[in-house]
Amino acid sequence: MRANLAVAKAHAGAASVWAVVKANAYGHGLANALRGFDAADGMALVEPDAAVRLRELGWRKPVLLLEGFFDRQDVETVSTHSLDTVVHCREQLAMLEAFPLRNRIDVHLKINSGMNRLGFRPDEIAAVHARLRALPGVRQIVLVTHFANADDEANPAMPMAEQVRRTRLAAAGLDAPLSMCNSAADLLHAELAERWVRPGVMLYGGTPGVKTAAQFGLRPAMTLTSRLIAVQQIVAGDAVGYGSRFLAPRAMRIGVIACGYADGYPRHAPDGAPVLVDGIRCALAGRVSMDMMTVDLSAAPAAGPGSEVTLWGAGLPVDEVAQAAGTIGYELMCAVAPRVAVAVREDEQKQ
Ligand SMILES: *Cc1c(COP(=O)(O)O)cnc(C)c1O
Repeated sequence: MRANLAVAKAHAGAASVWAVVKANAYGHGLANALRGFDAADGMALVEPDAAVRLRELGWRKPVLLLEGFFDRQDVETVSTHSLDTVVHCREQLAMLEAFPLRNRIDVHLKINSGMNRLGFRPDEIAAVHARLRALPGVRQIVLVTHFANADDEANPAMPMAEQVRRTRLAAAGLDAPLSMCNSAADLLHAELAERWVRPGVMLYGGTPGVKTAAQFGLRPAMTLTSRLIAVQQIVAGDAVGYGSRFLAPRAMRIGVIACGYADGYPRHAPDGAPVLVDGIRCALAGRVSMDMMTVDLSAAPAAGPGSEVTLWGAGLPVDEVAQAAGTIGYELMCAVAPRVAVAVREDEQKQ
């Protein structure tokens, strides 16, 4: 995580870096994020309770709520814990005007530059900026936007350059710094770094797209491992697992892995999805069940009960497993279930 943050910083130039730690640091745990990202300039996330937890764990640098506050109670939390906040809608603006803050905070005013998810229209920004400027609790106002296609910048439905154009138009004449870049924009568009960048997935060693994580110089932070708990010798025509999806084309050994969708492995992974057994690439064979999954051991004849299995991480990029399962690495990392035991490898921690 530390090494990946260094990659993000190297691309960000003079910009400050929010380490994005929403969704329990993309499944890696807030305590690990605090250790791995101690060199970040701030932590950005969505959940107000997790923001408070960061403060309780001792994080004194800025914390940013990426969706802002959701109700009056959250405004209180923002005030008490000196959290910086996004303001993306009129309701949030009205709440800030109605409930004066006890601590001065930075506000990240969100521009809807074309993604049409959160934010004010570019032609509304000057007026909202003026209303925020009038609030004594507001320190700096940063203009923030988010790209729909940083990993596919020529997308004709909304080219990234058009979002940049609209953002600069909205910012014209306002004395406000900008924050635009997620991981993909940070890695591919150093010229857009501006005041703050907001990398997420790259910090965990997942690719935001375009190139592989390794090509970007990123290293996997999470390795999901298990073991074989049984082996079945089957013959041609035998079927494996629920729905008998996998039919053996020949005699083979089937390894049973203690990991299933209740651990966060995607149930929709197809036969052939890659799994490492004793470090050897094998193919998923049969539907993933709640607590177990099954794999063709033809490539690993020496494997047996107790053999080490890697579902993704070191030696098997999460993005490759995700692609086989028709999703993205982000979803797999975020979905690791609470019952999975977490071990931080001390040898790697010291680097
Ligand atoms: C999640 C998020 C990010 C980080 O995106 P990555 O693609 O993981 O780098 C940045 N900005 C906002 C507003 C986000 O919600």
